[in-house]
Amino acid sequence: MYKAIIFDLDNTLLNYSLSEVDSMKRTCNDHQLFIDDVMAWDVFWKDFSGYNFRYWMDYVNGGAITTMKDVLRCSFRDSLKLDESLHNKLSDTYWNYFCNTCYFEDGAEQILSILKDKYPLGIISNGLSEAQRKRLRAGNIDHVFTSLVISDEVGVRKPHKEIFDCALNDFRLNNNEVLFVGDSLQDDYQGALNSGIDFCYYNRHNMMLPEGIKPKYNISNLMDLIQVVGL
Ligand SMILES: [Mg+2]
Repeated sequence: MYKAIIFDLDNTLLNYSLSEVDSMKRTCNDHQLFIDDVMAWDVFWKDFSGYNFRYWMDYVNGGAITTMKDVLRCSFRDSLKLDESLHNKLSDTYWNYFCNTCYFEDGAEQILSILKDKYPLGIISNGLSEAQRKRLRAGNIDHVFTSLVISDEVGVRKPHKEIFDCALNDFRLNNNEVLFVGDSLQDDYQGALNSGIDFCYYNRHNMMLPEGIKPKYNISNLMDLIQVVGL
């Protein structure tokens, strides 16, 4: 029987992809971009997403981009090529929507409401403090977690063992006493392996596991955690 359950946040408890696209649609609407032009929106969104990924990776890897605002501003600049003041305004509007938007994964609210009375709960997230804290508040689930470990705050990212140690310290538990649940094989599965923590893979698209990947548990619906922990 586990003594605490720890979750990844994005695309595990919260639907990151939906939050992103919804925030962008509202941003474009506010600034009168692509109104009734679905094709132009599609082209923009594909371009923006590509630039955004590259600038975000540059930012997290300590490259030339040093703020989230610059990640967004440069992504708008390269995908839209309009004027700089508009890129700045779009970045601000988008970030405000994104930080205050909370879409749950299916079953997330239900499973949290069941587990919170039985286990201390935690989150380990590779993300930005402002966004993660505000989004948890927007979803009214910030009070559910005993431990909230965000890479931006602790200076280390999954899959490094040290970020898992932060959560174990918060709970005053050993690695064999907790379960970690996450959707990423690269960050979450590998991190749990590095830390010797039991891992439940939230296989949200129910894909075949690559050769050699053997999570202790494999679920495609968060409510299956009930069976995993034996409630
Ligand atoms: Mg994730």
